[in-house]
Amino acid sequence: MPSTDEIRIYPVGGYSEYGRNMTAVEVDDEIVIFDMGIKLDRVMIDEDLVFEDTDLLDLVGIGAIPDDSVLESKRDRVVAIVPSHGHLDHIGALPKLAHRYDCPIICTPYTARLVEAYMAKEKAHMATKDVEIIPLPTGQMRPLTRKLTLELVRMTHSILDSSMPVLHTPYGEVVYGNDFKLDNNPVIGRPPDYARLKEIGAGKGESGRGVAALIAETTRAGEDTKTESESVARAILKDHIMGLENDEDGMIVTTFSSHTERIKSIVEFGQKIGREVILLGRSMENYNLLAEEMGFADFMEDVQVWGRRRSIERALGDVMREGKEKYLICATGHQGEPDALLSRIARDETPFQLSRGDHVIFSSNVIPHPVNVANFHVLTHRLRRHSVRMIKGAHVSGHGAREDHYELLQMLRPEHILPSHGDIKAQAAYIGIAQDFGYAPEDNVHITSNGRAVTLKV
Ligand SMILES: [Zn+2]
Repeated sequence: MPSTDEIRIYPVGGYSEYGRNMTAVEVDDEIVIFDMGIKLDRVMIDEDLVFEDTDLLDLVGIGAIPDDSVLESKRDRVVAIVPSHGHLDHIGALPKLAHRYDCPIICTPYTARLVEAYMAKEKAHMATKDVEIIPLPTGQMRPLTRKLTLELVRMTHSILDSSMPVLHTPYGEVVYGNDFKLDNNPVIGRPPDYARLKEIGAGKGESGRGVAALIAETTRAGEDTKTESESVARAILKDHIMGLENDEDGMIVTTFSSHTERIKSIVEFGQKIGREVILLGRSMENYNLLAEEMGFADFMEDVQVWGRRRSIERALGDVMREGKEKYLICATGHQGEPDALLSRIARDETPFQLSRGDHVIFSSNVIPHPVNVANFHVLTHRLRRHSVRMIKGAHVSGHGAREDHYELLQMLRPEHILPSHGDIKAQAAYIGIAQDFGYAPEDNVHITSNGRAVTLKV
């Protein structure tokens, strides 16, 4: 195929909606796919989700995974699938869809291990062919074809080893900005690689032409602030865990299982007040033991972790026998999910007996889906009946707000922008930011929806 000086973007999932992220980028006759995520009505993005038993077409039908039929006639042109980070709304559909493409999955090493685990679960349920998973550390270049090179730029978000993938093409770089915040003081790892982003923006990428297109998340684009650093969440937790009069009471903290930075803070402040910390829940175990194994989480050394229901019951029995005041329990269930541990504790279904004065700290926000809101309401109502002391919202977001977006645009100066990962309101808010830089809707900032490809003249 002759050179065209065109880049075609296929928004497959995650446009004008939240969840099931998937975008394909076509350059001449080659395609790279970014993300293959899930969206379920009960999207507990970071929690235990079992959907292996559900058929692919059924999942597409209910809108749980991306409808990739737009790529039907082009599957053999896909040269790589690149998940940006390990959240399920970015990797959760890989076990269902990746085998339909004859190419490897390339992502950061921690993400690769999470992907491997999901793929293995699927394989145990149905015959699916092996897909090669290639770990690519941030800061390294990997040629995909003669024309295309992939680079994963170090980024901060709310899960370890997040990246901002950059595809170097002959017509300029394509930057995939889903999901990110610009955290200058992360609790684990280093701030984003600003120097490299600026280089790429200044035309020092492989193409020498600068950024042709930025695909940008818009989750919090409408909020006039810069998202606080994870070190702010750490300070909030320090204040709550160490500042409360709590020598004799039980203490439960609940948060996103995959948020290892957050769990580090919970563990360290729990230990500082002389309590033994126990992480409870299958997903707590999965994410954080892997983090420890890969050298991200030394703090796990003196922490008990239990994932199986019976082990959890036994651990909670021990806590009751030895004295609640000796322990800090970090549990799943911050969205009020009925099956998660915190809801089971609130319903008195475990050996742990809540009593007046026990603390329950929510290091999370409620994801504003009606199901979550209802579940959360039920949970807090039940907790109140036990007269516990509750702290909600000890949390900062993993998604950049207006000022994060502003800074990214200033560094990258893309020729075209595609706002994604947000509803139409969030996409519109993003346009407002882009307009400050002189971008104009239809001209070089493109609002699109799932299945509606955009051809960029670059
Ligand atoms: Zn994410």
